[in-house]
Amino acid sequence: MKRVYNFSAGPAVLPEDVLKEAAAEMLNYRDSGMSVMEMSHRSKVYENIIVQAEADLRTLLSIPDHYKVLFLQGGASLQFAMVPINLMKNKVADFIVTGQWAKKAYQEAGRYVKANKIASSEDTTFSYIPDLEDVTVSPDADYVHICENNTIYGTRFTKHPDTKGKILVSDMSSCILSEPIDVTTYGLIYAGAQKNIGPAGTTIVIIREDLIPDELPEWVPTMMQYKTHAENGSMYNTPPTYGIYLCGKVFQWLLQQGGLEAIQKINIAKAALLYDYLDQSKLFKGTVAKQDRSLMNVCFKTDHDEIDSRFLKEAKLAGFENLKGHRSVGGMRASIYNAMPVEGVQALVSFMREFENNIKS
Ligand SMILES: *Cc1c(COP(=O)(O)O)cnc(C)c1O
Repeated sequence: MKRVYNFSAGPAVLPEDVLKEAAAEMLNYRDSGMSVMEMSHRSKVYENIIVQAEADLRTLLSIPDHYKVLFLQGGASLQFAMVPINLMKNKVADFIVTGQWAKKAYQEAGRYVKANKIASSEDTTFSYIPDLEDVTVSPDADYVHICENNTIYGTRFTKHPDTKGKILVSDMSSCILSEPIDVTTYGLIYAGAQKNIGPAGTTIVIIREDLIPDELPEWVPTMMQYKTHAENGSMYNTPPTYGIYLCGKVFQWLLQQGGLEAIQKINIAKAALLYDYLDQSKLFKGTVAKQDRSLMNVCFKTDHDEIDSRFLKEAKLAGFENLKGHRSVGGMRASIYNAMPVEGVQALVSFMREFENNIKS
């Protein structure tokens, strides 16, 4: 059967080459006589896999030595708790609430520290990034938290807020590895793998070493301390072995594409195909402020719910899957992560054009 164009927001499309390679190695990984899923995480052969994955991620993002890379579990949602628990000194944290994930991070942090919402775009269903030119940062904040790309609404930060010297923490679940970033401008970056990296089950944390606390209160579970994982090369307990293996394959694939500068060019071109079409369409329109448009999640709709439903139905029949917008926004959302080929976006735009012409006639 032919593979569909999968525009899912997550878990999401993976590079076909990666899936083929994994399939070829499924029964017998490099003469080990077993699948990666079946091998000890303490074996030499697995150690090579995780060490190489970390090295490749460091190369892709130019991660300096004084930052630790951790492969964890629990999703980005566990980081909503681990970040405040590990970074609390004054027990105050500031949040810029630009979507449902940012709001969840803010609410979860409030269980452990004094969480301040210093800016929000909830007034218009998160359709823009607030002006952060002179946002007031709490003088005693341990950090400022942003959600870099708002998966549900299709907005992204194009520049960082002025944190007045406070540590910047970023949820990059849906945009990590989509373009080059300067890791040193962040104290901590976290991302669930299932959007732009690999399968669900692996969470990546990149943390400046000096932010990892030596001592935490007695009640903090061992598994929720960054120190535990940092001191053990993400091998304190059994890591998500197969997930890390697949993430590693995606890192290799990205390096073969020419790294993040190359993928950024492709991502900009892919997003432009859709946004340019939307900007001239009489039927479809983008749903967020132009200057804040995401390169990864493109949200759009028509003026009529019935036409949206009909579009989604016909798109599915034509092999375009998972275009339905999040239930809180409605309309459509095309998630066009790194692994979505440009042909997929071209085909979608052609389909939309055809649909629009049919409606008119
Ligand atoms: C999907 C997503 C999450 C939640 O991720 P889980 O791994 O399911 O916990 C958090 N933040 C952002 C930006 C997301 O896109």
